[in-house]
Amino acid sequence: MNAPLRRAEIDLDAYRANLDLVRDWMDPVEVMAIMKADAYGHGLEPIALAAVDAGIRWIGVLTVPAALRLRAIGVGEDVHLFTWQHDPALDFRDAIDSAVDLGVSNAAELQRVIDAVDQRPARVHLGVDSGLHRDGATADAWPELVSLAVAAQRAGRIVVVAAYTHLAETSDDDDSAAVAVFDRAVETAEDLGLDVPMEHVAASLAGLERKEFRKDMVRMGGNLFGIPGADGVSAADLGLEPVMTLTASVAKTKRVPVDTGVSYDYTYRTATETTLALVPVGYADGVPRLAQGRVEVAIGGKRYPIAGRVAMDQFLVDVGDDEVQVGDTVVLFGTGERDELTVLEWAAALDTIGEEIVCRIGSRVPRVYEGHDVEGRVGEYLRGEP
Ligand SMILES: *Cc1c(COP(=O)(O)O)cnc(C)c1O
Repeated sequence: MNAPLRRAEIDLDAYRANLDLVRDWMDPVEVMAIMKADAYGHGLEPIALAAVDAGIRWIGVLTVPAALRLRAIGVGEDVHLFTWQHDPALDFRDAIDSAVDLGVSNAAELQRVIDAVDQRPARVHLGVDSGLHRDGATADAWPELVSLAVAAQRAGRIVVVAAYTHLAETSDDDDSAAVAVFDRAVETAEDLGLDVPMEHVAASLAGLERKEFRKDMVRMGGNLFGIPGADGVSAADLGLEPVMTLTASVAKTKRVPVDTGVSYDYTYRTATETTLALVPVGYADGVPRLAQGRVEVAIGGKRYPIAGRVAMDQFLVDVGDDEVQVGDTVVLFGTGERDELTVLEWAAALDTIGEEIVCRIGSRVPRVYEGHDVEGRVGEYLRGEP
């Protein structure tokens, strides 16, 4: 079988190993596996099925349509699907009927949820804005949201599952102040007659570093993909494995003379007669134009810099007199086993975070799944079996 010209290899065994490790660390605190943005670019359905097979009971997917995609492939209601960013025009009926958990940020949004309730009560998580100023109710708006929730719960229209917030991860002091804001909001809610059954505030970084923030559940995204939050700890130090390896096949090679201008604008000129190898991955696939001069790719266990501009669909490397052939595997980033850089090294070189690199891998890069799960439910899903 021919490998696709470019591909993102997704190691589901690595994902599961990370999941096991993280659940071990957090035990007895519950772990919600965060899979927004198509599971950080790794592909929502296969990652979710692997996580469910591993016994995960909470998945965070950001939006209702993503949650419904998972219900549609058989992720049952014993797995809670948390969503928290809602289209203002969304009709919540399908979400409620499919027992999708809804994070709500304000009274107007909660009212829309309540209005959509038909047979069964809506499962609601009340969001607190503790300082990030994205989702959640500010201290001023919180009592109104809580009072509406109390009334709707008494009327049997909703079930309040949890209160939650998300932290800015600016500094320990800022996060402590944010959690104090959250704790005060929970007290206010209790004063207003709400029983708060569950609290969740921490994501990967705070979940690891601030034990006291774990509360009842941590929401883990990056760690599970082998991309720990910053703070100088490497994935390997933590025992986390990279899940995505980005590879391509050399599509063309050509011999060129000394002083040949390469790619748009001739920003690179050959120093000698040499061989150029064409790597069919470009900025449309998520390799930033900025990568020129900042990252190297591995071919046959040897590193080569990107020669000249990264184009939409391809870039070139100058392989000198090395025996590089059409069809040879080029590893852009991965585990490091084939002498390639890791995604965290890419992120450092490109002044960003690993999450941005993996999320930007474009839709024309097929995700190729590997690992034991491919023999099970994930394989059936990929083959289109019911
Ligand atoms: C993205 C996100 C997470 C997961 O963050 P990581 O740092 O990747 O673990 C958790 N909660 C919310 C609300 C998020 O938006």
